[in-house]
Amino acid sequence: MPGTAPGESGPTEAEWAAAVAAVRQVPAGGRVLLVCHVNPDGDALGSMLGFAQGLRWLGVDLLQATFPGPFDLPDPLRGLPGEELLVPATEAYPDPDLVICFDAASASRLGELVDRLDAAGAALVLDHHASNTRFGGLHLVDPQAAATSVVAEELLDRLGVPLDAGIAECLYVALTTDTGSFRFEATTPAVHQMAARLLATGIRPGDISRRIFDHRPFGAVRLFGEVLGRARLEPAAAGGRGLVWTYATQDDLVRHGQRPYVLEALIDSVRCTAEADVSCVVKQVSAHEWAVSLRSKGAVDVSRVAVALGGGGHRFAAGFTGRGSADEVMDGIRGQLDDALVGAEDQV
Ligand code: 5GP
Ligand code: MN
Repeated sequence: MPGTAPGESGPTEAEWAAAVAAVRQVPAGGRVLLVCHVNPDGDALGSMLGFAQGLRWLGVDLLQATFPGPFDLPDPLRGLPGEELLVPATEAYPDPDLVICFDAASASRLGELVDRLDAAGAALVLDHHASNTRFGGLHLVDPQAAATSVVAEELLDRLGVPLDAGIAECLYVALTTDTGSFRFEATTPAVHQMAARLLATGIRPGDISRRIFDHRPFGAVRLFGEVLGRARLEPAAAGGRGLVWTYATQDDLVRHGQRPYVLEALIDSVRCTAEADVSCVVKQVSAHEWAVSLRSKGAVDVSRVAVALGGGGHRFAAGFTGRGSADEVMDGIRGQLDDALVGAEDQV
């Protein structure tokens, strides 16, 4: 049973009880709206669709899952069980009885769906970002959890929902996404125990991983070659811990015939640079707007950099939306790196 030991900063028993009650109190014929953050990743979508299937098992019939922005998913995230519950944001219930948010650290991550927080009868937030702003009314926020799906699995368990292969596939996608396939710091014994419960339903980890992580068009391979070829190493940055970064423009995508989602995997090829603690990919989303991915090996808390620049995330992985030119965005990051160095007192 995944749980939060006393003394850790996960949900309290009262918060778990309130969340269980909020789900159980949905009246017969009540509408439940599930929302995850803009540009859904594997954890956002997987925890949402996994939980959606659990709600269906509980007998919730009027159930929608959605996310802000264009109704478009990265190819690797298409075809998950429960996908038929997805609706465009424009069709989401305007005033559901219950809204449940997944993997969003702040209300702004819900985009145009933010008004549902007030319009709904109750708003429950499932998340694992230390930077969570405690928006909404009810919170299950566990900064110790490797993924939002860890919180979702425990809530399903407390609601008496048995894991089946459909739920498990979604939660497994979420767990492997946020742990980097069990490579990151957050990969605790509890994470492997959860993975064991998911695999015991008969899901096929090889097929799932290939589909989600190891599958991209040849054009994307060529695009990566070009974008990696312009990476820059700044050994003196971050108090000498080093910064490596690159950028990708909309024109790069057009030339290689690629959709923006393919760039999500780029940071993994940049962050392996031995000479840099901090890595960064700046991805153009419109003329003067950039989606920034930051990663750290531990000397810098990149969530501090991201929060200072209007975003959020975790110590080892964070992001924000940058404005101006790519150089201006990078200048903003350089200006925050020294303040985000992890002192001896912060070491975990
Ligand atoms: P990624 O680089 O994979 O897009 O995101 C890494 C982490 O930073 C994730 O935990 C994600 O939730 C967070 N993150 C990325 N972009 C933003 C943003 O614009 N705002 C906030 N609040 N968090 C972000
Ligand atoms: Mn997550």
